[in-house]
Amino acid sequence: MSVAATTSDSPAELDQIRAAVRELCAQFPGEYWRAKDRVRAYPSEFVDALTRSGFLACLIPEEYGGSGLHILQAGAILEEIHRSGCNGGACHAQMYTMGTILKHGSTAQKARWLPKIAAGELRLQAFGVTEPTSGTDTLSLRTAAVRKGDRYIVNGQKVWTSRAEYSDLMLLLARTTSKEQVAKRTDGLSVLVVDMRTAKKKGLTIRPLETMMNHSSTEIFFDDVEVPAENLIGEEGKGFRYILDGMNAERILIAHECIGDARWFIEKASTYAKERSVFGRPIGQNQGIQFPIARAYAATEAAALMVREAAELFDAGKPCGPQANMAKMLASEASWQAAEMCVQTHGGFGFAAEYDVERKFRETRLFQVAPISTNLILSYLGEHVLGLPRSY
Ligand SMILES: Cc1cc2nc3c(=O)[nH]c(=O)nc-3n(C[C@H](O)[C@H](O)[C@H](O)COP(=O)(O)OP(=O)(O)OC[C@H]3O[C@@H](n4cnc5c(N)ncnc54)[C@H](O)[C@@H]3O)c2cc1C
Repeated sequence: MSVAATTSDSPAELDQIRAAVRELCAQFPGEYWRAKDRVRAYPSEFVDALTRSGFLACLIPEEYGGSGLHILQAGAILEEIHRSGCNGGACHAQMYTMGTILKHGSTAQKARWLPKIAAGELRLQAFGVTEPTSGTDTLSLRTAAVRKGDRYIVNGQKVWTSRAEYSDLMLLLARTTSKEQVAKRTDGLSVLVVDMRTAKKKGLTIRPLETMMNHSSTEIFFDDVEVPAENLIGEEGKGFRYILDGMNAERILIAHECIGDARWFIEKASTYAKERSVFGRPIGQNQGIQFPIARAYAATEAAALMVREAAELFDAGKPCGPQANMAKMLASEASWQAAEMCVQTHGGFGFAAEYDVERKFRETRLFQVAPISTNLILSYLGEHVLGLPRSY
């Protein structure tokens, strides 16, 4: 079944989407991911299959060739990918960067990019926000875009721009007015769509970064890169707000991936604990093994409720900042708890590549740091929800 065949978010239809994703993921078993992980190769076959099935275009409206689904369904797709032992990190950005263009792009921009993205002819997988000197402090980013006639000239550097080598377009956040000249600290940043196919020929350099897991992350250097002014999304100087909008979607979608990972670890550990026999009985008969699995299960189900609430608020167009942040924090902690438990349940075999536990363990660790680290979520809750003094 293709994702386009389903259009509602009733439980039955969400189950249909999940079943279709599982069917696709079954073609990409552990051996596939292990082989990619070993040489840090991009899972092109998996991304192509997801694109062909329409799953990656699920948030693009039908008029532009997508299936016009909601975040709840997009989340179910990513959760199921992770629950099946696969990894959405190779392509999930297409889902969350999409919102910025959908919500703030002009009709002409949508008509220009969205049908091609939906058809798989154009890849929007790169999101350039983080910089080496500013880190989490996004408002201090330095990459500058200066307007010269009908174009912007971009200079600066980004880091951790994932998938840039496997994307045609990048959604870039750059400074168009200096920090000193803006009335509000959140003004002065703008969103540009950079066509990296042309930029690579003139001033844009992409350097891969080696990481703990297979994530195709890069650092990017801009040296007088020209971007047509028609690629500016929305109003100049208002880009931080547009990106913040998209960040709630990103947090909710990543939280779904965490829930998928956690459920994968719990299923894997439960199965192993029933099968592995030591001292003449299954290890799962020991409460020392059984209880951590049950605890991880309880933490995951509790986090999943918050993830669901955040997704429903988002889809209803209601404010969801606290819920999106709590969903991401609780789900990433649940997936890490489950990962840790799964390694311990497997004993020595938790470290053997062929069980996939160590690979998923490395992969799920990321979510407490990116796309936003736990401390920053706690600061947000402290300041903006509980009214405590700003800590930074
Ligand atoms: C594999 C990977 C992929 C990524 N992909 C992308 C991407 O595609 N696009 C993109 O733009 N970015 C991406 N990122 C970047 C990611 O969003 C950042 O790494 C993350 O937001 C943290 O920023 P930082 O690494 O600069 O940490 P820093 O800001 O240097 O912070 C370091 C530590 O200090 C803590 N800290 C900082 N300030 C405070 C404070 N005031 N109070 C308490 N604690 C604080 C942080 O929580 C963190 O634990 C990726 C990162 C990784 C590792």
